[in-house]
Amino acid sequence: MKLIFATNNRYKFEEIKHALGGFFQLINLTDLGFVGEIPETHDTIEENAAEKALFIYNKYGIDCFADDTGLEIDVLSGEPGVYSARYAGDNCSFDDNMDKVLEKMIFTDDRKARFRTVIALIEGGNLKTFEGRVEGEILKTKVGSGGFGYDPIFRPVGYNLTFAQMSLDEKNKISHRAIAVNELVEYLKNSYAIKK
Ligand code: IMP
Repeated sequence: MKLIFATNNRYKFEEIKHALGGFFQLINLTDLGFVGEIPETHDTIEENAAEKALFIYNKYGIDCFADDTGLEIDVLSGEPGVYSARYAGDNCSFDDNMDKVLEKMIFTDDRKARFRTVIALIEGGNLKTFEGRVEGEILKTKVGSGGFGYDPIFRPVGYNLTFAQMSLDEKNKISHRAIAVNELVEYLKNSYAIKK
């Protein structure tokens, strides 16, 4: 059974392909020869994930899912949220984004935050969403050199390490993305078993 993951990120693609086992023939945007931009015009990660999945589903007529992730910081009213990738402006680096967060939070001890991933699946034209979240806190400085994005300033609840201090394996066991992916995979396997 064919299924599109609307991403060009090889790392994410391989991770989900591995989790799905042999159940589906998972296709990415490169396999499809898709080269344009997928619109992301909304201000919630739910809507953007759905928009991306629906755009590709409508173009190719194959069931499709897409993901979107944001870091939500309570004292910043949920920022950077849906703007996590470009918080400090177009073409900014991960460091620029983290510096902006640290500067905005310099005078506050309210450090509560969470990563949230939403995966939107369009199956036979119908939308279904899956969510993964990890609660944690924003440190006052960057700690650790692994991972990507905001990992050096995010420490999940119950851990003494930031995401950037964890091994990839360790992070992948507890991450927001892993939780959402597991939910999707569970659903797809059940749905496949029913249709078979
Ligand atoms: P995307 O939707 O997965 O592309 O994520 C949007 C942005 O959120 C990325 O550009 C990163 O800045 C941030 N982000 C997503 N996942 C993570 C993570 O696991 N750790 C740190 N930052 C992340």
